[in-house]
Amino acid sequence: MQERLQKILSQAGVASRRESETIIQQGRVAVNGVVVTELGTKADPDQDSITVDGKELVISEKRVYILLYKPVGYMTTMKDPEGRPIVTDLLNGVKERVYPIGRLDYNTEGLLLLTNDGALANLLMHPSHEVDKGYLVRVSGKVSESQMDKLAKGVMLEDGMTAPAKVLPVSESENNSWISITIHEGRYRQVRRMCEAVGLSVVRLKRSRYDFLEIGELKPGEFRFLSPEEVVRLK
Ligand code: URA
Repeated sequence: MQERLQKILSQAGVASRRESETIIQQGRVAVNGVVVTELGTKADPDQDSITVDGKELVISEKRVYILLYKPVGYMTTMKDPEGRPIVTDLLNGVKERVYPIGRLDYNTEGLLLLTNDGALANLLMHPSHEVDKGYLVRVSGKVSESQMDKLAKGVMLEDGMTAPAKVLPVSESENNSWISITIHEGRYRQVRRMCEAVGLSVVRLKRSRYDFLEIGELKPGEFRFLSPEEVVRLK
């Protein structure tokens, strides 16, 4: 059956639908040996030979779901023009071509999901799919009641007000404080920008929770596979 190339690519686990479109536009995809850059182009995954970066697409790859503790200093893109390390470098022994569900900044650590299940990735990344994401934030100095209150009620960023968030104090020492912030939006650098907007300087940012999944005992750079029950709960 003929299908749009970006759909075939995302279902084969190459990347999300949107990233697949970029990959096509970059001229990295060929159908029967001919490079295709037109987004509407259709192909038949059963009949046509489809290659990405010269590699034949494997349509029936086993689906894998990975929970990684992303360390600071790794990119969540699949390639970095500056040659910095990328999260998939950490997945020793994983043969499937997985890619991250959403993004964490280079300097943010913590829970990151990766999969080759394009349909699940598209579902979870869709803006209408709002799941709680829990962050532990270490900031310089002390956090006032009014700063906590503003973060919880919503702050004005260049791209509009943030939705109400759950904000709790975690610990406080002479020079730094830890607070926890739970949001369900996923805007670019949202937690950092929210903290900056109320005058807090972020020293460390760690995602500890995604929906019902917790980082648990994993250490930076470690990963585990999700159980089938966890995958079902995510959908
Ligand atoms: N908020 C941020 O500021 N950065 C992240 O990586 C995730 C959420």
